[in-house]
Amino acid sequence: IAKQTGEAFRRWSPAFDERSNEQVRLGAQMRHALDAGQFHVVYQPIVALPSQRTVAVEALVRWQHPQRGPISPGVFIPVAERNGLIVELGAWILRTACEQLVRWTARLGPLAPDRVSVNVSARQLARPGFAAWVAAVLVDTGLPAYRLTVEVTETAVFEGGPAVTALHELRTLGVRIALDDFGTGHSSLGLLQTVPVDILKIDKSFVDRITEAGRHAVIAEAMIQVSHGLGLDAVAEGVETAEQAQALSRLGYRLLQGYYFGKPVPEPDFTATGELLTT
Ligand code: C2E
Ligand code: CA
Ligand code: CA
Ligand code: CA
Repeated sequence: IAKQTGEAFRRWSPAFDERSNEQVRLGAQMRHALDAGQFHVVYQPIVALPSQRTVAVEALVRWQHPQRGPISPGVFIPVAERNGLIVELGAWILRTACEQLVRWTARLGPLAPDRVSVNVSARQLARPGFAAWVAAVLVDTGLPAYRLTVEVTETAVFEGGPAVTALHELRTLGVRIALDDFGTGHSSLGLLQTVPVDILKIDKSFVDRITEAGRHAVIAEAMIQVSHGLGLDAVAEGVETAEQAQALSRLGYRLLQGYYFGKPVPEPDFTATGELLTT
């Protein structure tokens, strides 16, 4: 029924047609965009309390379109997931992020972040040989496995199957696994019984209202207790204010990420002296 409704909608709604034409257009341009170097990767700090040292960075892809300017990954990643280019684009992103961390380490030594965190789509994860391919990238780039974290969403692993197998294989390599947008899926807690996970990333929607005495704070507190009880790390995402950081710290959060600590940038500033670095 849902499928029929969807098709009827597609037939009748001009808005839907426009949106899907738009997506087809973007999808068709992506292949060329990748070859033409229109994609780049930016990095957002994940800081540890109380030092506020950048212990990790999350790699986030950007598309600088020559005519339209910047296009959000929220727009083009779903298109790439549908047309399959996410496999190639995602491969390029993961390799680029590993190379970047190796470069920073060569230049900065202990001031470089310990880890880089890379978002991986269900479609990448489910491809046969994904873990073996990651192992090859680690060898190629010289990045030790424990310095790479793979971020997956609850929906990507919900179905089980090859994606979960790949996570087990990655874990065996020593790669860390973060469950992204934690708490927004349908079975967040249930998943923790079957999916190998090292890190829970508490979704921004909980952080947004953390300073109001209410259910968001209660849930955020329960989530940190679950993560500690299971021996996992917890990262709070989307921290925008000092008040939110303080509230999270009081609840026991030690790893925070958000505009308050730093936006995603091509070359984050890692030095204690505040000196800006360039590649
Ligand atoms: P995500 O993985 O949940 O990434 C966090 C998003 O929140 C990023 O948006 C980041 O820029 C944004 N953000 C971080 N701190 C704050 C904050 O304090 N306030 C607000 N308002 N936003 C904050 P971005 O870069 O636009 O990415 C959106 C989504 O696109 C990501 O959500 C992820 O699902 C996907 N994505 C981005 N890069 C990649 C990639 O390389 N591969 C894949 N597969 N997906 C990606
Ligand atoms: Ca993420
Ligand atoms: Ca997230
Ligand atoms: Ca998200």
